[in-house]
Amino acid sequence: MTSTRPKLTIRLAAPRGFCAGVDRAIQIVERALERFGAPVYVRHEIVHNRHVVERLEQMGAIFVEELDECPDDRPVVFSAHGVPKQVPAEAQRRNMIYVDATCPLVSKVHVEAQRHEDNGDEILLIGHAGHPEVIGTMGQLPEGSMTLIETIEDAQAFQPKDENRLAFVTQTTLSVDDTSAIVDVLQARFPGMKAPHKEDICYATTNRQAAVKALAPHSDIVFVIGAPNSSNSVRLVEVALRAGAPRAQLVSCAADVDWDELGPVETVGITAGASAPEDLVQGLIEAFKERFDVTQEDVRVTDEDIVFKLPRAVA
Ligand code: SF4
Repeated sequence: MTSTRPKLTIRLAAPRGFCAGVDRAIQIVERALERFGAPVYVRHEIVHNRHVVERLEQMGAIFVEELDECPDDRPVVFSAHGVPKQVPAEAQRRNMIYVDATCPLVSKVHVEAQRHEDNGDEILLIGHAGHPEVIGTMGQLPEGSMTLIETIEDAQAFQPKDENRLAFVTQTTLSVDDTSAIVDVLQARFPGMKAPHKEDICYATTNRQAAVKALAPHSDIVFVIGAPNSSNSVRLVEVALRAGAPRAQLVSCAADVDWDELGPVETVGITAGASAPEDLVQGLIEAFKERFDVTQEDVRVTDEDIVFKLPRAVA
């Protein structure tokens, strides 16, 4: 029997979805619940995804924004984005059990920033104001040690104390292209500025942007599954549009798709931010299959096999 549904090609980005840091952070909360029993407190959304948070809440996790909302006698987990130094210090002072789920690639940036500070360099942090990772990275050093650079205009306006003692680090989930444009401006102005040994933008952000770039030009619309407060997911929408997708939309799951607004489409690109679970991707594909005669293609730019070890407290 021939299908009467319109034909649609779904181009599925690979890699997409969970990265090693998110996977580890979620496992840390699950293991902490097993080891210590409920409730386990989590300071800030463990990763920026409501579906993940709600599942962990059902298992007995309690999400709070600040440490002073946690009782002394229950364990607390710090989110994957990292925390200012005073947070673990305060947990220690209160004799709390705490497990740090900061992604090792964010911790690496913290170590770099500390090294520059020890060398007496003035530090620029390229990132977005207010993002918890930026708050955590700036909070590794005394207030005023780092200057935040958000835009090319910031890079053009910045006045160093001594241009021979400058270094920069970045947020891990930025747009690769925007960041290199900002770095170009800074390096042209301050050729001696020290750069990270290896890019601070992490492998997962880089690979997901490369995959969406590859599928965007051939898609009538690109759907990015992710949360509005997920930096790397929002970047994927921007990258898709810049790479030639006529439309790109951030949706938290299939229920967010406005089918009446979709219009005539023949090719749809799908990807997911690093904090979005694969079952949400599959749910979106199923929703398309209910309405279209779907052919599916993978657009794979690379394979990932990175796994991070769990902290000893929950290993
Ligand atoms: Fe770590 Fe990158 Fe994942 Fe953030 S996006 S948790 S830095 S691997």
